[in-house]
Amino acid sequence: MWCAAMTLRERDLQVLWHPASHFDDHARLPPLPIARASGCWLHDLDGAPILDAIASWWTSVHGHCHPRIVSAIAEQAARLDHVLLAGFTHEPAVALAEALVAAAPGEYGRVFFADCGSAAVEVALKISFQARVLAGEGERRRFATLDNSYHGETLGALALCGSERYREPFGPLLMPVLELPTPDLRDHDLDDLGSDVGARSEAADRAIALLEAHASELSALVVEPLAQCAGRMRMTGVGYYRRVAEAAQALGIHVIADEIAVGFGRSGRLFASAWAGVQPEFLCLSKGLSGGVLPLAAVVVRRGLEDIFRGGPERSFLHSHTYAGNPIACAAGLASLHLLQEGVLAGLPARAAALRERRLRVAGASPAIRHSRQLGMIAAFEVGPPGGGPPPPRLGLELRAAALARGVLLRPLHDIVYWMPPLSIRDDELDLLAERTLAVVREVLE
Ligand code: PMP
Repeated sequence: MWCAAMTLRERDLQVLWHPASHFDDHARLPPLPIARASGCWLHDLDGAPILDAIASWWTSVHGHCHPRIVSAIAEQAARLDHVLLAGFTHEPAVALAEALVAAAPGEYGRVFFADCGSAAVEVALKISFQARVLAGEGERRRFATLDNSYHGETLGALALCGSERYREPFGPLLMPVLELPTPDLRDHDLDDLGSDVGARSEAADRAIALLEAHASELSALVVEPLAQCAGRMRMTGVGYYRRVAEAAQALGIHVIADEIAVGFGRSGRLFASAWAGVQPEFLCLSKGLSGGVLPLAAVVVRRGLEDIFRGGPERSFLHSHTYAGNPIACAAGLASLHLLQEGVLAGLPARAAALRERRLRVAGASPAIRHSRQLGMIAAFEVGPPGGGPPPPRLGLELRAAALARGVLLRPLHDIVYWMPPLSIRDDELDLLAERTLAVVREVLE
């Protein structure tokens, strides 16, 4: 029961179970009520602004409440709010699928819609495996994944996560996977995108040897191209991705590119796979797909891969999510994609260069920053005590609290402070972000 005198925060603490949160931390840093948002800024109930430096979990592409997306949503909601996609169709789903197939880095034919990133990963795994069964290759029932990877939290996607941090305590429930080593390019910079970095690494050699040894049992290799975002923003290299993906495809192993975090411009191009010239069999998309405003996910499937599902009903892919291809979410996605294609993508090199300038300025200004790296519009700093030694145990929480006190939303991954702002962030906002991030690192660590 709540009474009118209770604050929103008090009501929240009685009833909500927050994602990725410890109940005990609410005493130190309770959930912050947000009333509205605009551009790169969130505003609390008193109107105080908070710079959303992580695009609210890597979603917002053009800034919050972009007028083009808001009006696309309003128009679509007034015309057709929802209809099931089984046995029915509608303009926003068809138009968005057409646009994705045309924009994806290769020859694609179909789009399967879902409603969150984890579900998209599940869809890709299941299509890949069922295609094997239908082709009489049912012994290809394992998946290869990269160490330190993150693919979501449903049990199938969680099984692919190459980090105990996320798998605990569910290990006993998870299917076994083949884990491949990755390079850890701690100082990755924009120039590395035009290179073959990672290709000749020991990790690539060992990964390919493992793929070769297990090829006959592997259905697909699941990869986060170029950056493992939840995995401490580890950058793995264009050359590594190209070489390992090509080796997998040459062995008849599908490549499932999980571009849920790096898609829609974050890597500096519409899709990160394009940097490496890789044409995955499956492209998993979510987060920025709807512009970052509504839950929507899609799996874009290589042309012709669906042919084996034709024939009797027993050959069908019987997988469904209730809100698959929701018209309002698809309308938002189309508006966002148009904005990207009308100019945002063309402006990305300049935006990434502006981000780089601030990153280098901050990295050079504190002995607490040990490494900094960047992929497109993703920048990360590895921080720790200036004299060396391990970072304090609750460093992420302390940095987050100090940043909020300065009006910035940062959500460090323990000792990794990162920026993944909306692509639309302006130079003056980047200056502010740099200045405040440096102040936060100094306050907590120096
Ligand atoms: N894959 C990657 C690479 C992700 O970053 C995430 C979310 N952080 C997911 C999958 C899961 O997406 P969702 O949280 O929408 O299920």
